[in-house]
Amino acid sequence: MKYNLVRGTKDVLPGESGKWQYLTQKASYVYSVFGYCEIKTPIFEVTELFTRGIGETSDIVTKEMYTFLDKKGRSITLRPEGTAGTVRAYIENNLNTLPAPVKLYYIGPMFRYERPQAGRYREHWQMGVEAFGSDSPALDAEVITTALTLLKELGATGLKTNLNSIGCISPDCRPRYVTALKDFLKSRSEKLCDTCKVRLEKNPLRILDCKVETCRSVFNEPGIPKMPEYLCPSCGAHFNKVKEYLKLLKTDYSENYKLVRGFDYYTKTVFEITCDKLGAQNGVLGGGRYNGLVEELGGQPTPAVGFSVGLERLLMSLETLGVKFPDDDAPDVYIVTLGGEAIKKALVVAGELRGAGIKTIMACEDKSMKAQMKLADALKAKKAIIIGDNELKEGVAVIKDMASGTQQKVALTELKGFLSKT
Ligand SMILES: [Zn+2]
Ligand SMILES: [Zn+2]
Repeated sequence: MKYNLVRGTKDVLPGESGKWQYLTQKASYVYSVFGYCEIKTPIFEVTELFTRGIGETSDIVTKEMYTFLDKKGRSITLRPEGTAGTVRAYIENNLNTLPAPVKLYYIGPMFRYERPQAGRYREHWQMGVEAFGSDSPALDAEVITTALTLLKELGATGLKTNLNSIGCISPDCRPRYVTALKDFLKSRSEKLCDTCKVRLEKNPLRILDCKVETCRSVFNEPGIPKMPEYLCPSCGAHFNKVKEYLKLLKTDYSENYKLVRGFDYYTKTVFEITCDKLGAQNGVLGGGRYNGLVEELGGQPTPAVGFSVGLERLLMSLETLGVKFPDDDAPDVYIVTLGGEAIKKALVVAGELRGAGIKTIMACEDKSMKAQMKLADALKAKKAIIIGDNELKEGVAVIKDMASGTQQKVALTELKGFLSKT
């Protein structure tokens, strides 16, 4: 019997796992510099958390969730995104009693039953931040800056920040816009795709996300209502402040009235960072403000803002951009042993070197010198340390630099100091 991966999943093997470590460490570093603390929430939650949180009509909830009954008959779902679980934990643990804004970040796997394609997996990792307890537009600008800082630290170039405000649920704000949009789209419904005809009744905002060419041509008609023109005074002022702060921070952004994002919970600011050099699939990262979600999930009314970035997509984007990753997998030292006494000595020496942080692999099998040197080469070891009977008698080891081929004898007692310096 031979077992294979489940469709849409992947193994992260040596060679690639180092890149993952690099990305997650960079994210942890940048997030913590911006004042975020890590939160770890369970991979599964009760299903209702997501249906309420993400929205009953969203694609994720209607088509893409891994939902099952546990042995007690409770409906459980593998988390499809990181925000709902973080909000649940924020409420359940009374994190609102901490000084605001409460800044949390998460790194971990999410699950979506969608058609696998380049950089998109059914199990995929997300690295995101959520800041709770402040409605200040300064926080929106700071969250966008956090995202851009991470991408720039990782070497991404050609980045563009797309910005929009989708207002609030006050009747003179988003609902007024949705009515205007609906009227406009209804008069052109024969040009809309079948999915959008359904959305027109259920969730007209989602139509702006449609990728079908004829739908897109409707969005580009000059008369289409644009959300920023329908914002209530409070949302309008908030949006203007966000833009003012971004200008102050010299962040290039472009207003994109078609940007609505795939979740129901967003209010006011939504943003997406794209990279011009990536072609059609140019979205790298997205987020926004969600002032209604904490209350929707049973907490006190609490403004919040955040973003999330998919690790696999990010890695693929960075590789397309030609970003070089540090290659940390190769050992510093490979210890070649000749004879039983040498193995005993090598065990002790390897322990000392590792204690000094020197990445060490030793030969445990009794193989010829030539075979062992071949292994050192295959592992891309920087140096080989050769210990045989003659060396043991002299109390030395031969150190060979694998790149240059030069050799020198070093006293066994001085190995650690010698290697720490080179
Ligand atoms: Zn509003
Ligand atoms: Zn459509």
